[in-house]
Amino acid sequence: MITLGEGSTPLVEAPRLAARYGLDVRLKLELLNPTGSFKDRGMAVAVTRAAAAGARAVICASTGNTAASAAAYAARAGLRAIVLVPEGAVAGGKLAQARALGAVVLEVRGSFDQALTAARELGERGGFALVNSLNPDRIEGQSRAAHELVEELGAAPDAIALPYGGGGNTRAYYRGFVEAGRGLPRFVCGQASDRAGTVASAIRIAEPVHSEEVLDAVHETDGRLVELSDEELLGAWRLLAQEEGVFCEPASAAGVAALAHAGLAAGSRVVCVITGHGLKDTETAVRNAAPVVAVDPDPDAIAAAAG
Ligand SMILES: *Cc1c(COP(=O)(O)O)cnc(C)c1O
Repeated sequence: MITLGEGSTPLVEAPRLAARYGLDVRLKLELLNPTGSFKDRGMAVAVTRAAAAGARAVICASTGNTAASAAAYAARAGLRAIVLVPEGAVAGGKLAQARALGAVVLEVRGSFDQALTAARELGERGGFALVNSLNPDRIEGQSRAAHELVEELGAAPDAIALPYGGGGNTRAYYRGFVEAGRGLPRFVCGQASDRAGTVASAIRIAEPVHSEEVLDAVHETDGRLVELSDEELLGAWRLLAQEEGVFCEPASAAGVAALAHAGLAAGSRVVCVITGHGLKDTETAVRNAAPVVAVDPDPDAIAAAAG
């Protein structure tokens, strides 16, 4: 098994969000996986199986986190990692990670969707194992998060709220809850209303490959597919940081942002999946946070500036 200790992430209460929404809100801190996103759960399985099958190189298209995760697990397995990222559209921390971990990082002059089409084609030609979520091993690994929640709570929560980019994670949770056999939560999936241009680069995906399965999960569980503006995403991102002390990347706040439109009964127990770490995207963080104030090393000046 190629592992870096992924999974077993904390599930913490969110008392201020709970009071704000009138719900029992818990946060599943998937940002605490080894490379800083939930992608590691699926990547561990995908890279283990690829290595066992004799692959020499893995390939993926990525909005950033899949690239960082593939790079880490490939390094661990002694495989090459080729990662295709849309030019100029990936957060700096993720690119730095993939490069530091030794991946071949190729900036594609095009969108994520075009990069994925090219990666699929190269996967089919052989020579590269595709480790996007089209690879069923990714879904299998990520489905363990639902099993973990059922173990922690004793049953499925009333609702699960998560960001919807390509939809692989939604599909994985749905499968995991079905397998666990302790009830199905209502699926509340938050997607960017401007999919192609959202500030939340991790979910900047115009054509989600798992859209049918996501719609099925939402309909079968009486859930909601919620469209979110950048203002709503950043608003929820700020609440998580400044009221709960959880610094995630903007896409990861989509589940929390979606709660405002989910129509859940008061007191419902909802788990929000916090998918990626805030340090991945410091550019967006500093653009949307209070400015730094310069002061002299003088106690009175500092006390005055502290307010
Ligand atoms: C990949 C990713 C998503 C979207 O997950 P999908 O499986 O594509 O729907 C959301 N948030 C973060 C931080 C991600 O890296």
